[in-house]
Amino acid sequence: MPELPEMEAWRRQLDEPVHAFPIAKAGPAHVATLKTFDPPLAALEGRRLAGARRRAKRLYFPTEDGELVLLVHLMTAGRLKYLLAGEKGPKTPAFALEFEGGARLVLTEAGSKKRAGVWLLTPEALEDEFAHLGPEALGLGADALVEICATESRRLHALLRDQRVIAGIGRAWANEILHHAKLSPYALSRDLDREEVERLAQAIDDELERGLELRERGANDAKTYRVHNKLNEPCYVCGTPIARVDFEEHTIYYCPECQTGGRVLKDRRLSRLLR
Ligand SMILES: [Zn+2]
Repeated sequence: MPELPEMEAWRRQLDEPVHAFPIAKAGPAHVATLKTFDPPLAALEGRRLAGARRRAKRLYFPTEDGELVLLVHLMTAGRLKYLLAGEKGPKTPAFALEFEGGARLVLTEAGSKKRAGVWLLTPEALEDEFAHLGPEALGLGADALVEICATESRRLHALLRDQRVIAGIGRAWANEILHHAKLSPYALSRDLDREEVERLAQAIDDELERGLELRERGANDAKTYRVHNKLNEPCYVCGTPIARVDFEEHTIYYCPECQTGGRVLKDRRLSRLLR
């Protein structure tokens, strides 16, 4: 699933184009993709979007008049694309907006499962949608993280991924961040000392900034990640082969030399724990 760096790179790309022209036609939308019916999509027609905004891993597009907001959640396979007037696009997008002059914003989703979603909301309803989210990961800072680590006793990989605690990080960037911070994915947040929390806070910013910069230049996953999905490839710091372990429903990648003092982490799949 795209995480903060990917979504923020898309947001920056879409911010100006979506604002350039008023909406001529809202839709069509796949029945599984559009999650709301009131207000109707047609309420967008004739209005101009203020630009593209982001909260956690979601993009949203407020109308310039401040009355409506289009919220988009891409999930794993959804992609948003801005097509210039006359530019060829997908035959049956999951969702489309057409702007005056002919440019289009289209949402496509690979595979047959429709998981991505589009909501047309009032600003108040959007606030409710975001109410459960923790602070944004980028720029969180050591003081806020000290507080989080003191109140939450969780394994670091799970803590970083919990959107209610810190918003914007998923499994890929959790792998990258923990490696950069030289911390074990299984370490308990409450056991970290001040220096370790500071290192983790710095690693969150360093890695998300690095990812954002690469994604803005169009880098693919293989070029962006250094630890995630790199099983048996040499660690970029020490050369030790990257290891992999299953934890709950996730696969964690880590360097046994840099992160766990040479120890190999034990499989902690949920299915195994429940057996
Ligand atoms: Zn290493």
